[in-house]
Amino acid sequence: MRIAVFGGSFDPVHYGHLLLAETCREACALDLVLLMPNAIPPHKPDRQLTPVRQRLQMLQLAVADCAGLEVSSLEADRGGVSYTVETLEEVRSRYPDASIFFLMGADALRDLPGWREPTRICELARPLIVARPGGPDPDLSILHRLRGNSTPSDGEPTVLPMPRIDISSTELRERVRAGRSIRFRTPRSVEEYVRQHRLYRSESLEREGDHGDQNP
Ligand code: ATP
Ligand code: MG
Repeated sequence: MRIAVFGGSFDPVHYGHLLLAETCREACALDLVLLMPNAIPPHKPDRQLTPVRQRLQMLQLAVADCAGLEVSSLEADRGGVSYTVETLEEVRSRYPDASIFFLMGADALRDLPGWREPTRICELARPLIVARPGGPDPDLSILHRLRGNSTPSDGEPTVLPMPRIDISSTELRERVRAGRSIRFRTPRSVEEYVRQHRLYRSESLEREGDHGDQNP
């Protein structure tokens, strides 16, 4: 079994997330990609997120009937601040014989050294990285520093080519708040869900200057 964890806030999920998951699934012959929204992201305690059950529902709509892609409520069910290292320990104990991967964009890789136990994260799971427009280029020296001598040299890729998709959840939230369209930035079913549940309309939502939140 080759299993990948793809964590994030997914507030809301968009086509950048989905293409990342599908690109890694195909390129690395993954049997299962677990899309996993965090309960509370460690680095944004002040940011008001959509309740995790709603973020889960949007993900479920987005990947319904997509073989190999599944939504996981592991972090939602654990509750509290979601630390990736704890999540990966749990996935490892559930699938003791699996090869475990961890998917992220280059902006998340940049922040990885600031996460809890990043070296342990890299022992538990093999990172797979994609580039993201408007952010840093994938910097593999970060992984080399974290892994030291245990850097794998089996020729498997770490950075995967993917069309650069300049979409972020921040942009989608801002668009909804401004009464603008999010069509073709996220699946139709998610667009409908956002409308029906009147998400992202409140002025009380966070003000953000960047794509900042991560899922350490
Ligand atoms: P926000 O703007 O709220 O931070 P986001 O679009 O950055 O949202 P996250 O849920 O924070 O989405 O990201 C989860 C993961 O998906 C991260 O590893 C991030 O790098 C990756 N990711 C998000 N959008 C893209 C994209 N357009 N291209 C490549 N990777 C992406
Ligand atoms: Mg982000």
